[in-house]
Amino acid sequence: MQKIDNYDFTGKRAIVRVDFNVPLNEQFQITDDTRIRAAIPTLKKVLAGGGSLIIMSHLGRPKGPTDKYSLKHIIPAIEEKLGTRIKFAPDCMGTEAEEISKNLKPGEVLLLENLRFYAEEEGKPRGLAEDVTEEVKKAAKAEIKEKQKEFTKRLASYADCYINDAFGTAHRAHASTALIAKYFPNDKMFGYVMESEIVAIDKVLKTPAHPVTAILGGAKVSSKIGIIEKLFDVVDNMIIGGGMAYTFVKAQGGKIGKSLCEDDQMELALSILEKAKAKNVKLFYSGEVVIADDFSNDANTKVCPSNEIPDGWEGMDASESSIKEWEKVIRASKTILWNGPVGVFEMEKFAVGTKKIAAILADVTKEGVFTLVGGGDSVAAVTQMGFADKVSYVSTGGGAMLEYLEGLELPGIKAIKE
Ligand code: AMP
Repeated sequence: MQKIDNYDFTGKRAIVRVDFNVPLNEQFQITDDTRIRAAIPTLKKVLAGGGSLIIMSHLGRPKGPTDKYSLKHIIPAIEEKLGTRIKFAPDCMGTEAEEISKNLKPGEVLLLENLRFYAEEEGKPRGLAEDVTEEVKKAAKAEIKEKQKEFTKRLASYADCYINDAFGTAHRAHASTALIAKYFPNDKMFGYVMESEIVAIDKVLKTPAHPVTAILGGAKVSSKIGIIEKLFDVVDNMIIGGGMAYTFVKAQGGKIGKSLCEDDQMELALSILEKAKAKNVKLFYSGEVVIADDFSNDANTKVCPSNEIPDGWEGMDASESSIKEWEKVIRASKTILWNGPVGVFEMEKFAVGTKKIAAILADVTKEGVFTLVGGGDSVAAVTQMGFADKVSYVSTGGGAMLEYLEGLELPGIKAIKE
């Protein structure tokens, strides 16, 4: 397998799939540029090695070409971070894209317009009426898959080598994230973001220092079942907090008031408890929680045992005493994985528990504990609270990270490795 650090980019045009799916406000200003900053080392490596760049990405979920999701809005940010002017092809399949890429000189950069302006990128039919027959659906799928081959081939024709640095979309078998790799059998590689994501997650999954503790929070048990079960093979302790804990509490006969609960997942919750026992994993819940009489920052609050929540009240955050319990477990661990906030951190009043967890992780990181934070909302939480650079690694790929943790083979990784 080629490695970006060993590859000779001299005179080569590298087509790089990055994840520039950044949030923009109504004035098209970037509100969080983490993903652009993350890709810069890979892009600079190609330029410093004497190559040129064709950058491709998606932005949002457009159904076709639209100004709102144009990558032109982020050109100034890329130029500023890369320290060079860049060219822009307003249609990733257009003659301009072909012409400019053909004539790229070392050090030059071309940005292709949003790949998802074409349905071919994802390879899914668009605009089908809901009431069409299965046959029509099947024919539309077959048609788009055929068109996708042409789309992929054309993208590949722009370049001499391919780099995938978009971990956030590595769980998708799209044209630019997986299919294109076959056109570069000896000239395909991971970028630094992909490399470091894989190394960081493998450090937890494959070669962790024990004891290993997973801290899981967030809203739904149903979205975490896969990882919970996979993690039982790896972890010594699992702390379950956030909204999803109440399904476990209720399943065991606790009173949870109007707390978040997935009634249809209770049986599964009980089977998870059994599995934890069988695998010798110690489970930790909130003994006490902060409850509120309304889902609002202005609500009245009090602290009560998590299985004795009165009617009309709901669990909103981990309490101080729970955090203290969890802190003992965390401080005795050598490897920690954190996914999902332990309270409704979007509201200041209920962000206390999540903030404390972030601070404890930052502290143990200083003492040499490996701390990996990943999955959409916990990343937002540590970033918002100023702890992102104080933990060992923050994974940028939400869905991709969860699937990798579940032990699934990600198409974007497989395409480079095979
Ligand atoms: P997830 O995407 O599953 O990681 O869930 C993240 C969401 O869980 C965040 O929006 C939190 O506000 C929410 N959350 C965490 N704790 C609670 C809770 N006790 N009640 C309701 N929502 C919660």
